[in-house]
This record gives sequence, structure tokens and C-alpha cells, in this order.
Amino acid sequence: MKCKQVAARKLKLGMLKSEVGQTVTSPRHLDILNDNISAQFPPDDGHKFRSIRPSGEPKPAALIPDIPIWATVPDVTAPPSPLTKSEVNGPRYESAPPLEMKLISELYSGLIPDFDPLPSWSTPPKPVDGLSPYGDNNRSPPSRASAHLAIMSLDLILRPPRTTGNGYKQPKLNTNLKTRLQDMQSVLRLFCKDAGWMDASETIAVAKGRGPYYGRTLRHWIKSFITDGNSLPTNAWGSGNVSRLDTDDGLRDELRAHLQDRGKYVRAQDLVDYLDRDEVKARYHATVSISLKTAQRWMEDLGYNWTDSPTGQYVDGHERVDVVDYRQNIFLPAWFAKEPRLRVWLEGTKDEPGNMHQPTHTSPLNRRTVVWYHDESVFYAHDRRERRWVPVTENAVPRPKGEGHSLMVADFVSADYGWLRSPDGKESARVLLRPGARRDGYFTNDDIVEQATKAMDVLKKYYPNDDHVLVYDNATTHLKRSRDSISARRMPMKTSKPEKNWLVPTPSLDESGDQIFNSKGGKVMKLIEMAPGRFDDGTPQSFYFPKGHRHAGLFKGMRVILEERGFPASQLNKLKWECKNFHCRAGRTNCCMRRVLYSQPDFQNVKSVLEDHCDRRGIEVLFLPKFHPELNPIEQCWGRAKWYYRRLPASSLEEDLERNVVESLESIPITLMRR
Ligand SMILES: [Zn+2]
Repeated sequence: MKCKQVAARKLKLGMLKSEVGQTVTSPRHLDILNDNISAQFPPDDGHKFRSIRPSGEPKPAALIPDIPIWATVPDVTAPPSPLTKSEVNGPRYESAPPLEMKLISELYSGLIPDFDPLPSWSTPPKPVDGLSPYGDNNRSPPSRASAHLAIMSLDLILRPPRTTGNGYKQPKLNTNLKTRLQDMQSVLRLFCKDAGWMDASETIAVAKGRGPYYGRTLRHWIKSFITDGNSLPTNAWGSGNVSRLDTDDGLRDELRAHLQDRGKYVRAQDLVDYLDRDEVKARYHATVSISLKTAQRWMEDLGYNWTDSPTGQYVDGHERVDVVDYRQNIFLPAWFAKEPRLRVWLEGTKDEPGNMHQPTHTSPLNRRTVVWYHDESVFYAHDRRERRWVPVTENAVPRPKGEGHSLMVADFVSADYGWLRSPDGKESARVLLRPGARRDGYFTNDDIVEQATKAMDVLKKYYPNDDHVLVYDNATTHLKRSRDSISARRMPMKTSKPEKNWLVPTPSLDESGDQIFNSKGGKVMKLIEMAPGRFDDGTPQSFYFPKGHRHAGLFKGMRVILEERGFPASQLNKLKWECKNFHCRAGRTNCCMRRVLYSQPDFQNVKSVLEDHCDRRGIEVLFLPKFHPELNPIEQCWGRAKWYYRRLPASSLEEDLERNVVESLESIPITLMRR
């Protein structure tokens, strides 16, 4: 019983914190809060809230079941302490740690059988037939209990109690926020006086001389506030994880129309500029525009993809299983592992030592990790951009001629040092090439590897005290594997016959490493063995029988390879050797022999030529997830350089092009690169 009482007391305190976003540690403070509650709800109003008064010891089961808990559990065993300054001054606006919230919800859901940790309406909305899934998500009302609590919580923010316990003091809120909070409170008050939820919000919107969208916005704000007491409508364009774009169809349509007006070369900056117009800001009750980062996210939400102009097919793969899998399970863990050793800069500060955050943890050698982002971009003499926001509906068109000379730039950039180069600027890994002089004007894998070599030379020579990571995007040319690297895709199941051994065709190279061509101009190929795999303990497994074996030199076949790895014959006998066209059901790893082998760790973790090459010199390569250009900050460097480039005098001369491009690239200050 005692245990239950402690639990109930914890819950009580927890809930009080949830109302005001602050920890309650002293009885005096608890009294202030409770007085406030009883002022709102006289004992005869029938509401369950009275149960959280300290005098009437409530049973846990009688506690309000649908109040979200996002508070930390105060330590009730600790002696009462005087109020801290922040407790006296009112709520704190930092957000509660989500993990903690989850744990506490779980804790309480165990204590109280019927406890529902979140209000039922916080479940994601289902798209209604004929309506956009981005429509109004907040049509369903909150429970009256949540509404009452929200009124009280808003009251504590709008009228923070004095330390003496008598009266209120002025809140430190800007006018905009204050108005919004008052409007939210008005909606809730009306709602609690038995008005309908939609009615209440729309009535207040009309009373405020605003359109129906404001009613919707109010509902959205209230919902966010009830779900997370730290979520205040400080930002007209969205708060927390919810963007205004998702809650406001009008805004969505308006922005779409605006982008279409802009024509072919739309930029994320166009959204920023548009929302910065006084007239637009006034309509949306905003004081500032959105950030470029938000604009980039919105571009995708609006059905644009940052990509090369369509040259053929296009697949929107943002949420494709393999992309998500790579992003969540490979890229992000690799990234977070590095994070503690990265240098971090305070926003908007100058390049001074005092403005640099040192990494929180350092290795015994006190080394920092420097991340170098690689990218390629094309500059045109007549400034036709190659990369742009492309509506998903746009089809391929033949690439127009007459864009003038073009120049491709491939380079690396880091927040620590800017463009990759020696301190005197004489040595760099920057590549400028004129498309046309080479196939497609793009890098081949060989070029990429060669450029990486140059980069590593500079890094090893001038920055030997840092660890370096080269980050590339997920282009096919970057990911290329060596010809003989292991793959289960085309392997036969059975051991090869002597007259037809299974080998891998690979280009024949001369002594200097160049492709040999035959008299008709065709590439001369030769057949080589596939590289060996690895057993679990790391020892190599050749896929060809050894000397002395009766099948010496012949390919073993998938079946033998799996048996050698310890798969029992009885199990293999039950497997077909391949699902039709190797289109196995998603997520399966044991449906067929090829899939089993394909899923083996050594087959899964084949390194690209580039990774292998850099690995040998102790430099790590990381590939960005596909369809996530926003993760590569060098995009913004190009954008900035092109902006500068367009302001230089126009010229069709190739020398001018190169000089202008270089000048534009050099024009970017390092403080901008750090953003
Ligand atoms: Zn299969």
C-alpha cells in the first residue's frame, strides 16, 4: 500500500509538472499550483481533477486516465528544497527528452491498468477518401479533461503566479505568442462550455477577424500543446515535428501555384523569398520566413525532387525499403559514431578559436575527425543549371544545346578547413573538366579513385593530425565494385564441368594499366576467378577447388559453398535454388539458396573500389543515403558559388568561364560553409 501511495504521489507530481512544464519539488509550490486548480474548478463542478489535490489521497485508478505524461518523476524521497529561480519564474520552454517521456509513459501504464499514455486523438490520421492525407488532422476533439488541463497550463504561462503566492506577474512573452496562447485558451474555454470542437475553433477564428484556416491552425496548436506541453506556437510555419505545410492545404496550394509560376528553374530559395513578403507573412500570422533548410524539406513535400534534369526514368525512392534500411542501419550509426569527435561551430560566429566547440570526447591521441564532402557540379557559360528542383511529373526532354561552354567541377569541402587544399592553396584535389573532352562529361570510377588519391595525398601531408572521412553521394560511378568482387547474383548452383568452368570476365589491361582493344576496336576481355569469400572466423574461402582435388581449379557452385559454411545438406535439400528471377519476398533471407548466400555477411559487405582504395591508406569512405541531397552541405556551396557566378560579367569565352568559376568558388567565406 505504501508503495502504491508513493507511486500515486509521484504521478501527482508528475502530472503537475506536465501542466506547467516545470518540476515540482516543494510542498509550497505544490500548494500554489493546487490553489490555482481549485480556483478554476470549484469542488462542486464534478471534474475528476480534484483527485490530484494532495489532501484527498486518491487511488491510482481514480486518476485521470487520458492525460499525457511528459514529465520527469520528481524525487519524492529528497527533502523539500526551496523553489529555484526557474520554478518561480514560470515554465521552462526546453523540450522534454522524448526517451524519458516514453519510459515514464511505460512506467505509468504498468501502474494503472487502464492508463492510456497518450490521448486517443494523437494517433496518426487516416486519409479520408477524396481528401488529401495532408488535410485537417485535428478535426477530432480532445477529451474535456485534456482541454481543462490545457486551459490551466496556458493560464500558468499567461499569468505566472507570484512567489508570494498572491496575484500574478507579467509573463515574458512576445505579443504574437501571447495572442496565440490567448486564442488557444478561448477556443478551449468555449469547447468546455459544451460548444463543438470545430465550432469553438472556427468561432474564435471569426471573432478574431481571421479566415477558417486560422481555426484549423488553432486546432493544430492546441493539439501540439496537449500532446507536448513544451510545444508552443512560437513559429507560424510549424512547431516541433509538425510543419504548417501538413496542416494547411491553403498554404500548400498557394506554394504549388507560386512554384509553377516560377517556371522550370525553381529554387528552395523561392519559397523562402515568397514567404518573406510582408503581405504573405501578415496573412499567415508570421513574423519571419522559413529557413532554407525548411524550404528544402517543403520542396520535397510539394512533390519536387532535387535531382538531375530527367534524362529517362525517375523513381521517387525516398522511402524505398533499401534506402531506408541503408539510411537507418548503416549511414546514421556510422555518422553518430563519428559525431563526438567532430568540431562544432556556434552559428553566426567568426572564425575564432573561442567560437569553436571542442568535441565532447576525444580519443586517447586527442585526434579530431574531419568530414570531407565530395560532389560534382556543372557550370554553364550561359548559366543553364543542370541540377534543379524537378516536379515529379516532369518527363524527360532532350537536353538542349546552346547552353554555352560548360565546366564540371568536382571537389571536397569541410566545415573545418573549407575546400580541400594545402594551406598555401597550391595543392588541391579539385578537378575542372570540360564535358565533351570525356564521355558524358562525368567522372568514371577511375577518375573518382584518382581524385581520391590526390585528396589523400594532400590530407596525409598537411593534415596528419586529424582523422579523415570522405563522404560521397550514392552515384553508381562511386559505388563501383571491382570486377572480381564476390557476388551471388550470377553464380551457378552446381560445380562447374571441366569444359565450362565458371569465371568472371574482366578487361585485359596492358602494362600501363590501359584497356587493350582488338583490331575491330572492341575491348579485349579475359576470364579470372572470383575473389574468395570469408568464413565467419575471417579465414578466406576460395570458391574454386584447390590443387590436388579431383575438381582442382573448378568453380564449387553455390551448394558446395553453403555446405562448407556449415549449412546441413538436409536443410539445403529443402530449398529451391532460386526464387523466380531472384525476386524474393521482401525481407526474406532463407527462401532460396541464392538468397541464403546473398545474405551472408561477406556477400553483403563487399567494399567498392573507392572504399578499398581509401581504406588502404587509413581513410574512411562513407556514402550518403540515396535521395537525400540535403545531407550534403556542398550543395549549398555550389548554390552560393553559382549565385556569385551569375553576378559576374557574362561571357561565352571558355577562359572566362573557367576564371569566373574559380573566382566564384573562392568567394565563399568559411563561416558560410559551416552552416
Ligand atoms: Zn528467394
